[in-house]
Amino acid sequence: EQQALKAYVDEVSQDADGHHVELAGNIGRPDDLEIVLANGGDGVGLFRTEFLYMDRSDFPTEEEQFQSYKTVLEKMGDKPTVVRTLDIGGDKELPYLKLPHEMNPFLGYRAIRLCLDDRDLFRVQLRALLRASVFGNLKIMFPMIATLDEFREAKNFLLEVKEQLISEGVDVSNSIEIGMMVEIPSAAVIADLFAKEADFMSIGTNDLIQYTFAADRMNEKVSYLYQPYHPAILRLVKNVIDAGHANGKWVGMCGEMAGDPIAIPLLLALGLDEFSMSASSILHARKQISTLSKAQLSSHIDHILTLSTAQEVEAFVKQITQ
Ligand code: PEP
Ligand code: MG
Repeated sequence: EQQALKAYVDEVSQDADGHHVELAGNIGRPDDLEIVLANGGDGVGLFRTEFLYMDRSDFPTEEEQFQSYKTVLEKMGDKPTVVRTLDIGGDKELPYLKLPHEMNPFLGYRAIRLCLDDRDLFRVQLRALLRASVFGNLKIMFPMIATLDEFREAKNFLLEVKEQLISEGVDVSNSIEIGMMVEIPSAAVIADLFAKEADFMSIGTNDLIQYTFAADRMNEKVSYLYQPYHPAILRLVKNVIDAGHANGKWVGMCGEMAGDPIAIPLLLALGLDEFSMSASSILHARKQISTLSKAQLSSHIDHILTLSTAQEVEAFVKQITQ
């Protein structure tokens, strides 16, 4: 099977009718890149930068971060590379960042909330990213955006840091897309408003599912509520994709759902542009998509959205794709 999949390494990512999508990889550290490229990834849809900050005793310097981002961007060349700014907090702790104990860390002071509050910390990462931008096809994405104000503040700060660098005589790319993760239900609901201001949106289903069902993604007792095919999730995903497209923006997904063989036909039908997944799933996804017809699957979407449970959706997908 592995051998048969290898045939898809250099294939284009398209459905049976020639409709193109992008199949990208998620990476956690620069070394993971080799696996994405070996598996024929069209790009990196999520670079989780937390690794730079973890397993150490102090913050990484601007220079250290710059070297890491530059390495990744150079290896990716023209291929799009979506780097997510620091998403610390929740399940991801930093011993040297002394944060007060919280009752609900997943609902607390984390990710963009922390970065907007600690501008010195945020500035170091943004400077490193902007300096690295001239070495590849960089897209910057903010995590855990809940309100338009947060996105505007983050974007304005990024532009401010960029102006500062330019005034220092540093080269910065002029074509960096600035986007956001849609992983909080409030953002999914007002995706039409975000789509006017963000260059792209990437749906983070790991958190979107957790927050939609109010079920901790780490707690086995409530794991039955982790339901990617549930109509509540599908309707949110549809809302985001439609909002993006109505504003001429591309929409991706970088949660686990993007590489799930049951979800893939649904996401293709809904018009998802970019699927970002663990490198080991890319070839499976490319093979599967090559056998599907987006046009045909789309004709079932209205019906699928009237189904009432995840089980019904799953059974229906199996029925129409076998
Ligand atoms: C997500 O929430 O879906 C996501 C991709 O980010 P993470 O798993 O790092 O929270
Ligand atoms: Mg997340």
